Amino acid sequence: MPEGDTVWRAARDLNAALAGSELIRTDFRVPRFATTDLRGRTVEEVVSRGKHLLIRVAPGESESEGWTIHSHLKMEGLWHVYAWGERWRRPAFKARAVLETAACQAVGFELGILRVFPRSGEEEAVGYLGPDLLGPDWDSGEAVRRLASVPERPVGLALLDQRNLAGIGNVYRCELCFLIGVHPLTPVAQVPDLVRLVDLSKRLLEANKARSRRITTGMSSGRDPLWVYNREKRGCLRCGTRVVHELVGDNELELRDLYFCPHCQPRVE
Ligand SMILES: [Zn+2]
Repeated sequence: MPEGDTVWRAARDLNAALAGSELIRTDFRVPRFATTDLRGRTVEEVVSRGKHLLIRVAPGESESEGWTIHSHLKMEGLWHVYAWGERWRRPAFKARAVLETAACQAVGFELGILRVFPRSGEEEAVGYLGPDLLGPDWDSGEAVRRLASVPERPVGLALLDQRNLAGIGNVYRCELCFLIGVHPLTPVAQVPDLVRLVDLSKRLLEANKARSRRITTGMSSGRDPLWVYNREKRGCLRCGTRVVHELVGDNELELRDLYFCPHCQPRVE
């Protein structure tokens, strides 16, 4: 599942493939942008903002402003870079964006969001995001402040809310609650140390951003890279207790799989 670390790697790889190159063909396979054509313009850079990807394209001749191709991977999305002549590793009908340079094709498959707009639209698109765990603007104090601003909200939901801090997805929110020993439905106000929680979030994403296998246990050689996530059949990696799996959400967040160990993460009433 794409989380901030996955998106950071996608941005890094796309940036390496596209930055400084002219687009010789663009093909946006969503109705709203089907006629949008950025051919002839040069890609400036590709960056991640939380779980969002921004491909920044320089203005064309006679244009006063550059462009942004904004995508979000949601559940299944991914970007691939192919050398010319290389066979796509996903079916073509799942492609939502194709960007071609003289050297390569970048193809976005099953993107949850795909939009193209003048650069000034970035603020509206991603300006609401909290501090980006892997971004140049990271500000742990601000992330703590935002988390604490709704004290009654369950910490497991607050961590997923990208307005508090950007980059945490479902795997990390479950593992973070485990690592600090709190039940995910514990109100934020009852979490013993929010500063530690935020610092731990940053450390986990930093440690994982450059590798494809997500590890929260600190043991890179182990067979089990996670403590509780998706372990309802195997049990808590620390104590073996049966991991509880529930679907949890609130008005603002859709229902998502929640995993926790009832022994290591007791519910505080
Ligand atoms: Zn346990």
